Amino acid sequence: MEVEQGSLLLHFARNGDYRAGGSDLLVLERGEGPYVFDTRGRRYIDGLSSLFCAQLGYSYGSQLAEAATAQMERLAFNTNWATATPVAVQLAERLGELTPVEGAKVFFTCGGSESVEAAWKIARQYHLANGEPQRTKAIARDISYHGVTLGALALTGVERFKSSFGPPAIPTRHVSNTNSFRSDLCEEELRKKLLLELEAVIEEEGPETIAVLIAEPVQNAGGCLVPPTGYWQGLRELTSRHGILLVADEVITGMGRLGTWFACERFGVAPDMITSAKGLTSAHAPMGAVFVSERVAAPLYERGASLLHGVTFGGHPVAAAIALRNVELFESERVLENVRELEGHLERRMRELLELPIVGDVRGAGFFWAAELVKDGERERFDAEERERLLRGFLPGALLDAGIIARADDRGDSVVQIAPPLICDAAQLDEVVDSLGAALGAAGEAVIEAGSRSRS
Ligand code: PLP
Repeated sequence: MEVEQGSLLLHFARNGDYRAGGSDLLVLERGEGPYVFDTRGRRYIDGLSSLFCAQLGYSYGSQLAEAATAQMERLAFNTNWATATPVAVQLAERLGELTPVEGAKVFFTCGGSESVEAAWKIARQYHLANGEPQRTKAIARDISYHGVTLGALALTGVERFKSSFGPPAIPTRHVSNTNSFRSDLCEEELRKKLLLELEAVIEEEGPETIAVLIAEPVQNAGGCLVPPTGYWQGLRELTSRHGILLVADEVITGMGRLGTWFACERFGVAPDMITSAKGLTSAHAPMGAVFVSERVAAPLYERGASLLHGVTFGGHPVAAAIALRNVELFESERVLENVRELEGHLERRMRELLELPIVGDVRGAGFFWAAELVKDGERERFDAEERERLLRGFLPGALLDAGIIARADDRGDSVVQIAPPLICDAAQLDEVVDSLGAALGAAGEAVIEAGSRSRS
């Protein structure tokens, strides 16, 4: 069955492209395991977990629905606005224990941008309560994505998403991210350089004016930018020394994506706050959360103090019931163990893609990998016109033709990313990499060779 766009406005899309006679719109109607099926009955392996959300894939709907139905029959809704539901209390307790945030208190939201903005406000209230109202600035990193609502957008480091919308709501300095492929330094030198740059920016701005440093443990935009060893310890040390709150944005890296509940655990660091969303319910309901350390939350518990933030559906009991069952399923299905057991296999298979001339680098961790695309098998970048042809013209169709959903992206350099459901077995991961390799091989022939023919 053909389904058209109709009145639906697509997010981050060229809406006009899908009008009659334009590009085909991918309309998915069914899922099974790590596979999704479009309305024409074509099957794809979901190499992106529906934008990093579907940790359990698509065969646990009835078990999660059971938890949702039981909650709906008991009490469909109550807010967390000075009231609570048992399930929200239980979920806060359960999730809090899973994070490396010390004595975590949990503020629920409906998604990632809301979590980021809530973390900012909680940070401001913390500094105000400590007699430091002048801490009004943030530090984030180049090409980072922390969401698009106006507060979160200020922290986001992708200029082309920001420039249309006026001055940033939060004064933010962006520092270099941890892209090692585009650096000539060894890991240790890169770590030192990045931390020295950060320290210089802190000094330049005035340490006493900075409220928050926000960073993803492995940065998504730019293509799975893994930090050098010791980098996160460096962030922790610098922020603690200057009274700046360290926020780990784990909207993607949390909930098992890197083989631990939260990636900060893998990097051995306890941040002051973690922002989370996406995988909290394995995408069976919208939900986000901010995990706040006991120390940072303390002023909110003082007599007469009020948390000046709230969203109606934050902590929705039906979403909370699904999230609790999601945690149980992670345990009974050994989801984290699966990621840890198969990470090496996925890495080996992804590194085979380096044999393709179009792949310059492969990087990532857990079930979260990127291939950076280059013109010459080395490090030469595609220009804007080539990126348009490759990433928006050729690859989206070639990936679907190869039977995979993956993401071609150039918020930074040109990359294709995969983040398969965390329940994939080795054969399914092979299918992800083989399909990706087929699409990239075809892209190499179509774009690079066509380009060199037209030059000769
Ligand atoms: N933070 C990170 C790291 C993200 O990747 C995203 C979304 O992709 C967000 C925040 C914003 O989340 P949402 O789209 O749920 O608002």
